[in-house]
Parts: sequence; C-alpha cells; structure tokens
Amino acid sequence: MKIPVEIIVGNKRIRKMALPSRYLKHIYNVLNEKWFGDRLNKKTVVAWSNLDSEECIAFECRRANRKVPLLLVHQDLRQFSKLVEFQILHEMAHKALPLRYEHGEKWQGEMMRLAKAGAFKDLW
Ligand SMILES: [Zn+2]
Repeated sequence: MKIPVEIIVGNKRIRKMALPSRYLKHIYNVLNEKWFGDRLNKKTVVAWSNLDSEECIAFECRRANRKVPLLLVHQDLRQFSKLVEFQILHEMAHKALPLRYEHGEKWQGEMMRLAKAGAFKDLW
C-alpha cells in the first residue's frame, strides 16, 4: 500500500507517494549486516517512489518523516537490480554518518571504506 512521504531537497519540502517493498528491505537488511555491522536503523522503511530527476534516483530522508526513517528508490530502477543495490549502498553511506553530509569528504570516505571492503564488487 502506498504511503505519503515528504522529502527535503535543498530547502524545499516535496510530497511524494512511496510503496514500501519487502524486496528492497531485504537488500537493505543484507547490506546492513554485511557492510555496516547491522548498526543502521532496522526500522528504516525502504520504498519505491516516483522521484523526479532533480531529486536524485534514490533518496535518504531521515528528516522528512520523523517517526520512521525512509530510504526511497526511484521506481524506474525496478528492472536494474544491480543499480538498485548500488543506490541503496549510496544512501546507506549517508545513513552511516551522523548528519546529512551530502557528498562531501566524510561521505566520500565512507564510500571508499565500502569500496575497499569489497561492497561494490560486481556492481561497478
Ligand atoms: Zn547521495
């Protein structure tokens, strides 16, 4: 069942519909255990959404829905399972940081850690 969500892009609040997915949540859980020592929030809802180009192809939006952390994946990626996994890892790297660091040095460092650990093997 679709749920309404609100995401923050720059200083804009944008309302979207999102479709929580067991398939996406399973990928999130596996990656969380394998690459993040299971320390990322297990209550995170992982959902398909109709994001626009300016909103990226996936979105991590802790601030938008305060009760439930969300991770949105663009619905057009459905048929590209490797891209889906890559994008979820991208968003999880944001979640691993205490605040939203966009794509600055700390986030780059987290992506390098994942790369060196082998998280992107067969994905890039
Ligand atoms: Zn990002």
